Amino acid sequence: MTAGRRCLHCERALPVGAPYFRVALALQGESEVLAPADGPADPHALLRQLGHLDADELEAGVHEEVTGPLCPRCRAELRAFFHRGRSVQ
Ligand SMILES: [Zn+2]
Repeated sequence: MTAGRRCLHCERALPVGAPYFRVALALQGESEVLAPADGPADPHALLRQLGHLDADELEAGVHEEVTGPLCPRCRAELRAFFHRGRSVQ
């Protein structure tokens, strides 16, 4: 038996022919240290400030991408998360 498509979040099976959604989320880290608004960064100061982070923390803080299929229920939860405090249609 071949494994079918599953929801990225809840791992619920997504039957062939049933509607599903595809999420493509990019989390881009920003900070005054990495992208100073008032001129080029001093690379030595930048390295000193980032020195306490290990490679995984640094990479996760700079850029992370999540892509995959979502079931309708998880899509609704994700929309509610991003629209918290606002009306969602
Ligand atoms: Zn789901």
